[in-house]
Amino acid sequence: MTDEEQMNLFDLTPSETPLVELPHAEGVVESPTAKKTARSPKNTSPATLNSVPVSEQFTSLDTLRETACNCQKCPLAATRTNVVVERGDRKAKIMIIGEAPGEQEDLSGLPFVGKSGQLLDKILQSVGFDTTKDVYICNTVKCRPPNNRVPTPVETNTCKPYLLEQIRLIDPKIILLTGATSLKSILAEKLSITKVRGQWYEWEGRLVMPIFHPSYLLRNQSREQGSPKWLTWQDVKTIKAKYLEIMGADSVIGEDEEF
Ligand code: URA
Repeated sequence: MTDEEQMNLFDLTPSETPLVELPHAEGVVESPTAKKTARSPKNTSPATLNSVPVSEQFTSLDTLRETACNCQKCPLAATRTNVVVERGDRKAKIMIIGEAPGEQEDLSGLPFVGKSGQLLDKILQSVGFDTTKDVYICNTVKCRPPNNRVPTPVETNTCKPYLLEQIRLIDPKIILLTGATSLKSILAEKLSITKVRGQWYEWEGRLVMPIFHPSYLLRNQSREQGSPKWLTWQDVKTIKAKYLEIMGADSVIGEDEEF
C-alpha cells in the first residue's frame, strides 16, 4: 500500500480490511449499561510528574461502572444524560484515554462514538487494530461538560480516582493519551502535546504515549509531511510495532516497508 493509500484510511470513509491479523484479547465490553440519571519521561524531571493519589479501590470494573453511573460528586452530574465509562475490550493491552464525552457520547453512554471517535477508529484500523478487541477506550472525565467545554481542574480531579482505578483494573501495557486534558491528568501539567506527542514515557510501570486528539486532526486535514495527520500516522505505526513486540508477534512494520 502506498503512503497516499495509507493516509486515505484516516478519512471518514467506510473501513477497509485490517492490514494484519493481530492476536486478540478476550473480554469485550458489550453494549452500554449506562442509564440516565514513573519513572520520569525523557527530558522531564520526576518532580513535574503527577503522583497517583490514594483512591477508592473497586473490586471489579462492574462495581466501578455502577458507582460512576450514580456519581454526584461534581456539578456535571446535574447536566449529563449518561455517565460515559468505557468501550472496547476490558482485557486489551492498549488503553486510550480521551478528554470528556461530547454530545453523541452523552446520549449513547459510550466514549468516542461521534465524529472524533469515528476518526480514532479509522486511525487504529489503518494499522490493523480491531477497535472492539485490541483497545479499551475511556475518558479523563466521565460526564459531558456543557457545550463541550474543556473540563475544569475540579472536574478532572474529582473524576481522577475512577480513571486511576480503570487503569489498575484493566492493567494495560500501553496507554495512549489523546490530547492535552488526558496528558495533563496522567503525565504532567506542564507538558505541551505538540512537543511530547509520539514519545514513549514510562509511568507507573506502563508505556505511555501522548498523541494528538482526533478532533484536532478533524480541524487540520493536511496530509503534508510534518502535518498533525502525517505525524499521527507515524505515531500509530510506532504504537503498532511496540504492540506486536509486547504481544510477542513478528513485527510486520519494517523501516523500509511501504504500507
Ligand atoms: N472526545 C473525547 O475526548 N472523548 C469522547 O468520548 C468524545 C470526544
